[in-house]
Amino acid sequence: MLVTPLSGWGRYPVQSCEVERPERYADLYSDAASVIARGQGRSYGDAALNENRRVLLTERVNRLLELDADNGVLRAEAGVTLAEILEVIAPHGWFLPVTPGTKFVSLGGCVAADVHGKNHHHDGSFGDHVAAIELILADGSRVACSPAENAELFRATLGGMGLTGIIGEVTLRLIPIASSHMMVRHHAAADLEQLFQHLQNPALDDRYTVAWIDSMAGGAQLGRGIAMCGHHAAKEELPVGLSLSSFNSEELAGGRSRKKHARAIPFDFPAWMMNPFSIGAFNAFYYRREGKRQQPFLTGYDSYFYPLDAIGQWNRMYGKRGFVQYQCVIPDATAFDGIKALLQELSGSHRPSFLAVLKRLGAQGRGLLSFPMAGYTLALDLPIRDDGLFALLDRLDETVLRHGGRVYLAKDARLSAESFRAMYPRYGEWLKIKNAVDPQNRFSSSLSRRLRIGEELS
Ligand SMILES: Cc1cc2nc3c(=O)[nH]c(=O)nc-3n(C[C@H](O)[C@H](O)[C@H](O)COP(=O)(O)OP(=O)(O)OC[C@H]3O[C@@H](n4cnc5c(N)ncnc54)[C@H](O)[C@@H]3O)c2cc1C
Repeated sequence: MLVTPLSGWGRYPVQSCEVERPERYADLYSDAASVIARGQGRSYGDAALNENRRVLLTERVNRLLELDADNGVLRAEAGVTLAEILEVIAPHGWFLPVTPGTKFVSLGGCVAADVHGKNHHHDGSFGDHVAAIELILADGSRVACSPAENAELFRATLGGMGLTGIIGEVTLRLIPIASSHMMVRHHAAADLEQLFQHLQNPALDDRYTVAWIDSMAGGAQLGRGIAMCGHHAAKEELPVGLSLSSFNSEELAGGRSRKKHARAIPFDFPAWMMNPFSIGAFNAFYYRREGKRQQPFLTGYDSYFYPLDAIGQWNRMYGKRGFVQYQCVIPDATAFDGIKALLQELSGSHRPSFLAVLKRLGAQGRGLLSFPMAGYTLALDLPIRDDGLFALLDRLDETVLRHGGRVYLAKDARLSAESFRAMYPRYGEWLKIKNAVDPQNRFSSSLSRRLRIGEELS
């Protein structure tokens, strides 16, 4: 056991944790009084931290156990990353049914956060494609959970942020692909109203749809952006000679070849580099350049799904104090007004967000603490330059609550326990299951203590 400072991807907060790293599946357990599992630490805040307590690293428990290449079913240990899975399944004509915006996450982390992708409005979240898991409980026993077996515990574990037990094994249903390339189309929108129209327009929609927003644009241009729609290219859409075997040979659109090993940010950028001027200039350039790509074009799945993975440790761009990703969802009925109010609040605060992404989400899934609900989700990356940021985020929470929405726990580092309870109405149902399997609340984290997850509703 080692005591070391740890953080999530946002590098805020940094906390001293006792770290234990089992080398084999059989050792995937800890008898510490408080323990939380950690995959790749790609959640942004304190979900995979446990200050002055135990963190169980799952990274060595990462074997692929079985691939049914005829039916597209994969069974693997929870520490394996999506990158490692893709290396094996894509050449066989299979793909992940749901993927977040980085492939450097673990299978266990994807189940525990019930992650969503650009296809949530069509295909639901990660948990909708999980056939079964093996869960290691507080008393060390191992139980199989699925929609049919221990179904309540299964629902509490999808999106349960590691607080019901350690996910040991996952059986995942894959989707077939005819090629490793994506057919993509961009649709520029001059303001938020047009961007919503694009995202709601069935003629523009595709299996994967996401919108980039120019977060620096205000006034009449507030919410201007680009809807980026794509699908896995069918055989007949590919130029002759391009197939699965050429996977990872992108980047096709520009004829550039993509290096397998990403360039890394070598040091913490000084805070002044991320200022309204530099971000505004970049956004204006990006809007002009990407908005012009109105004709469908082919690109590799890496550049479509994981553009940021090409820059190693890009989180250092935000400087030493780190950053917060604020991601919320607002239900359909109030989405336009809610997202507009959030963007207005942001633009008035003169705090630049380097990245702003808007996605449409489909119906709420099975996970009792899962984030998605039918509506629109906005994600903003905000550098921590001073404590004033936290006052702004509290105001954003109020706006989200007023519009009936919620904040995503996998990105969170600062929500209050009261707001959490108001945003997650199925918490009471979840707590009954948690109390039944973990009465001593052994599976706990910095996030769970901050949000009083595991405590009775008061
Ligand atoms: C660039 C980037 C883009 C992203 N894009 C998206 C996106 O599009 N959609 C989305 O939904 N999320 C997105 N995320 C968030 C990310 O997918 C989730 O936070 C995911 O949980 C990270 O997986 P991890 O292995 O790093 O987990 P960690 O950060 O290590 O842990 C996250 C949570 O999972 C729990 N956990 C991890 N492994 C286990 C296990 N074996 N058993 C029990 N609990 C476990 C931890 O306790 C913790 O609560 C993004 C993150 C980054 C950095």
